[in-house]
Amino acid sequence: METVTELRAKFIAGTYTPTEAVEHSLQVIKAQDGEIHAFLDVYEDAKEEAKLATAEYAKNGQETPALLGIPFALKNNILVKGRKATGSSKILENYTAVYDATIVKRLKAAGAIFIGATNMDEFAMGGSTENSAFGPTKNPVDTLRVPGGSSGGSAAAVAMGAVPAAIGTDTGGSIRQPASYCGLVGFKPTYGAVSRYGLMAMGSSLDQAGPLTNSVADVELIHNVMAGQDDMDATTISDTTYPKVEIKETYTFGVPKHFLADGVDEDVLKAFDEHIEALKAAGHKVVGIELPLFEQGLAAYYIVMPAEVSSNLARYDGIRYGHSAKGDVLLDIYEKSRAEGFGAEVKRRILLGTHVLSSGYYDAYYGKAELVRKKMRAELAKVFAEVDIILTPTAPTPAFKLGEKSDPLAMYRQDIFTVPVNLTGVPALTFPMGTVKRDEKQLPVGVQYIAPHGGDARLFAIGKKVYDERA
Ligand code: GLN
Repeated sequence: METVTELRAKFIAGTYTPTEAVEHSLQVIKAQDGEIHAFLDVYEDAKEEAKLATAEYAKNGQETPALLGIPFALKNNILVKGRKATGSSKILENYTAVYDATIVKRLKAAGAIFIGATNMDEFAMGGSTENSAFGPTKNPVDTLRVPGGSSGGSAAAVAMGAVPAAIGTDTGGSIRQPASYCGLVGFKPTYGAVSRYGLMAMGSSLDQAGPLTNSVADVELIHNVMAGQDDMDATTISDTTYPKVEIKETYTFGVPKHFLADGVDEDVLKAFDEHIEALKAAGHKVVGIELPLFEQGLAAYYIVMPAEVSSNLARYDGIRYGHSAKGDVLLDIYEKSRAEGFGAEVKRRILLGTHVLSSGYYDAYYGKAELVRKKMRAELAKVFAEVDIILTPTAPTPAFKLGEKSDPLAMYRQDIFTVPVNLTGVPALTFPMGTVKRDEKQLPVGVQYIAPHGGDARLFAIGKKVYDERA
């Protein structure tokens, strides 16, 4: 599929129009989504917007907004006024958003056309999209396998060629891991770079929204449209929040070898080693680094995240939004609505989160996890004094089969390399580093580049060189 940048050039040249692009998107969805199930909703009225965009290109060509007429898919935890916003949960099955998320406003202002809402793990909790209350999504590369998650619908929408770009959210890896499984570029920005206003909160201190695309240049373009301070989200940062992160010709990359020793598939490691060799051949330096606390990342994440989940999901009470069960007294309504509306994984995390925040356990669990998190940041700062970019595989394996990881702990392990990035708030980019063979199929695997706080532009610059300009 074409990139956003290529589409835009054709629109300007007049050799292809937004009307044709949107028609194409709707056709691909019609032909393939019965099997893939990337979409929860498809917006047929996008055709009307496309007509207007086509006319505007004819009139103003280059002078049109940067994303005019580009078809986009949005994860269904992002609010678009007048559209259903379910978070793939039964509890919000019939909920319609009453306002636009800030990122939606910004994408609309740049001319993006939304084609539909994508499937996800319920409230973004999961790594396979199997936790959706509306059935799983399949990986277009191999339909026996999961697309990853929780932004699996967004990844599949791009991988099946329905759209050149989709938006996901990433709390512990939910943009990067599905990008890796589906052979895409994915980006988790510096915490605070992108407003969370109008996104369904999972872990507020971890969540960021970002693009899934076919090129790093597209990720950069879309991120820059979405990013920036927002009065509606006090955690958004300005350009000067962090010291300037320099962009250079060659970099020193740090590889936490000790961290890769266990549980990474051998052929994934081989692809990773080949990537390292290619970086060296291009004149970069690659050195070993120690990040001992990163190995505690998953443990800390599965305390901090559920704690925040338990608090954020308290708002779904059967009164304010969505599904409401009948009950004799108020407490009955709360209990029944939540019991009927939430799926098993969501309940597991609410219980866990409530437990680690309860008096008597708070210090033992939540307090300790936050301490680990603080120390991880310090550890990272020390490493970033020596290296420019940290390098890991994005996930320890390629896409696994539907139903294969019924044990939640096995599923959680897929996020071992992505979770520390959210806990520390730094930006990370993933793009394909090769393929590995499973059951006679070549499956993509991604590499993860991690930069210091505010180093988003460094990742775009190096990503374009290494991935977009690959031979
Ligand atoms: N897979 C991770 C989890 O289940 C990450 C989810 C996310 O980033 N939203 O929590």
